[in-house]
Amino acid sequence: MSKQVLIVEDERPIRDMVSFSLRRAGFEVREAEDSRSARASLADRRPDLILIDWMLPDMSGLELTRAIKRDRETRGLPIIMLTARAEEGDKVAGLEGGADDYVTKPFSPRELIARINAVLRRGQPNGDGELIAVEGLALDQASHRVLVGERTVPLGPTEYRMLEFFMTHPERVYTRDQLLDRVWGGNVYVEERTIDVHIRRLRKALEEFGYDRLVQTVRGSGYRFSARTS
Ligand code: CA
Repeated sequence: MSKQVLIVEDERPIRDMVSFSLRRAGFEVREAEDSRSARASLADRRPDLILIDWMLPDMSGLELTRAIKRDRETRGLPIIMLTARAEEGDKVAGLEGGADDYVTKPFSPRELIARINAVLRRGQPNGDGELIAVEGLALDQASHRVLVGERTVPLGPTEYRMLEFFMTHPERVYTRDQLLDRVWGGNVYVEERTIDVHIRRLRKALEEFGYDRLVQTVRGSGYRFSARTS
């Protein structure tokens, strides 16, 4: 079944170009020209991924991203932000706001599609159906969910992949570079600082359940998943 992408972009020529390229690549596409119509579209049907332009007429793309990630119904949806801003601060702001990736204009359709596929892959179950549990924190690889008792820990696709990697490789220190390689896959261009943003998001999601302590910072080296305190 083809994956559905919702494009939220007010500039018609860009929306048309993206939409055309995605359809040609086999995606099903829905379009919204502002935040309001994007939210109406989301209420109507849930896409597999959302592309959000940074500059929208009614609400900034960043605010829309935050709103989607605040909503329990939609927070698991992967988001890629489109933007003309190439500044580091904005990139981090976008990721902090909940975006899973970031594409800077002008971009080629090929690059965009590669990014979309990479983000969608991160959200794919591995299919081996194993249940891994550490101190009551359970990761179900079949359903791609993380559970504490009956409650689901709300995680975006990148945080899920990161936690999955950590839980399948506990008690070992990984550098940011190694995490980039193992969680993102070697051929995607991501800055190391991005890792810290996702680590923060993962911890924040786990914090509510008291498990943020399992994701440990190892000074000068990187990160480790461990049930031990020292
Ligand atoms: Ca725009």
